[in-house]
Amino acid sequence: MSALKGEFRNLINGDLVAASNGQMFDNINPATEEIIGQTADGTHEDMDRALTAARKAFDETDWSLNHSFRKHCLEQLNEALKGSREELRQIVIAEAGSPLLITYQVQVDNYIDAMPYWSNLATEFEYESRMSNIDFMGQSQGRVIRREPVGVVGAITPWNFPLYLNLAKVGPALASGNTVILKPAPDTPWSATTLGRLIAEQTDIPAGVVNIVASSDHSVGAMLSSDPRIDLVTFTGSTETGRNVMKAASSTVKKSFLELGGKSATIVLDDIGMEAIAPMVGISVCTHAGQGCAIPTRVLLPESKYEEGLEKIAEAMAGVNYGDPLEPGNLMGPVVSRKQQERVLSYIEKGKKEGARVVLGGGIPAHLEKGFFVEPTLLADVHPDATVAQEEIFGPVLCAIPYRDEDDAIRIANNSIYGLSGAIWSSDTERAMSVARKIRTGTLSVNGAQWFHVDTPFGGYRQSGVGRENGVAGFEEYLETKVIGLPA
Ligand code: NAD
Repeated sequence: MSALKGEFRNLINGDLVAASNGQMFDNINPATEEIIGQTADGTHEDMDRALTAARKAFDETDWSLNHSFRKHCLEQLNEALKGSREELRQIVIAEAGSPLLITYQVQVDNYIDAMPYWSNLATEFEYESRMSNIDFMGQSQGRVIRREPVGVVGAITPWNFPLYLNLAKVGPALASGNTVILKPAPDTPWSATTLGRLIAEQTDIPAGVVNIVASSDHSVGAMLSSDPRIDLVTFTGSTETGRNVMKAASSTVKKSFLELGGKSATIVLDDIGMEAIAPMVGISVCTHAGQGCAIPTRVLLPESKYEEGLEKIAEAMAGVNYGDPLEPGNLMGPVVSRKQQERVLSYIEKGKKEGARVVLGGGIPAHLEKGFFVEPTLLADVHPDATVAQEEIFGPVLCAIPYRDEDDAIRIANNSIYGLSGAIWSSDTERAMSVARKIRTGTLSVNGAQWFHVDTPFGGYRQSGVGRENGVAGFEEYLETKVIGLPA
């Protein structure tokens, strides 16, 4: 057991509680393989109580109408998160295997500091406005347009960026006046249950407005996609599970908002030097061991510079520090579980069988005795239709694909069921922009420029999802639209 305390209780109807049957499940540190503690293993009965509580809080309190109270509560939550920043940082490192380095950015700090964006929208968003009058059978008619919370939100999150993704759902859902049930991934329960403790102990958020039910049983979370008491299910996770969520949501025609997988491509145009692109291309696929949905995991290199590009990228990847996530210089820790490690390694084997050449890595690092590590791996000569070029591996594995000309590169980049992100490198920004306009993805980076921010709408084309998280567009996902006609 580690010294980290964590929070084992779920939050249901304002109370921090054990599971109804008293069962707990282990929380495992993927870097050490040690059990860091346990969490209440939420049952169907617990989820049922959470559903009743969230419904009641939405239907019977003034939470949805009291904008200034919501702002006040979210400001309290922001203060509570700031006060527990270091505890949350240690939890995310211990349960997700996240390198310390990225907790100072998106993994922890960025989103704690971004909470005022949501609390301000609670009062500053224009919830009611007048449209122009229309003529109906000779009479002038007025129209009022109102934006109202959808109702009870079921939020299901994955393990790769647990605190960020929990807050990215709970923040806008609450600010816009909904009540919420959050079901975190079983690999990273404490990032959610600790949030529950802060809400219960340090905010005036009324009982039932937020419920947090961790469980090792996926079918407990699946209640959020099918139960009629839920109005909107917001899900971040794999495309495969997303399809199940959408299917289950159809039984009650529930609004579903899905942030799913990616297989993003970096296009390196032929007018740029390989030494300019290699560090960023190599580093980004290793960040958090490649466990980011928007990380580019295919690199498309011009035939004329292919071997040189491979060499420089392999050099950059070989230079990435990895190992103990607590080591400040490490960019990469383990993957989240033994199951994920086996999955990543099996993809590498499949890649080899389908003709890929292993330029770097390909296995378990010999120098790390414990933990679910995978070597930074560069696969070359990958066919654009090969399994490793088409399916999400979610590990530090980069697939290099040569292309003939610009049109070929665009075609290969778009040859995917996914459409989440991507990158373009060129010495000519205008040329890069003209390529960017032809790529069918929700976000793109030119020459390494960063787009991620709380006010940037983020999401995918095609099977990378439905809807946008973050930004005003993300806030509006949690709102319905009502129009009231009245005499002018
Ligand atoms: P996952 O799909 O296995 O699980 C995600 C969540 O869904 C977990 O909480 C899990 O318990 C729950 N779940 C599993 N089966 C369910 C069911 N039938 N009904 C309802 N909930 C169910 O994903 P993961 O392995 O935890 O996370 C990795 C995936 O998440 C990757 O595919 C990654 O690309 C994706 N992801 C997407 C984004 C994005 O914004 N697009 C961000 C981060 C991660």
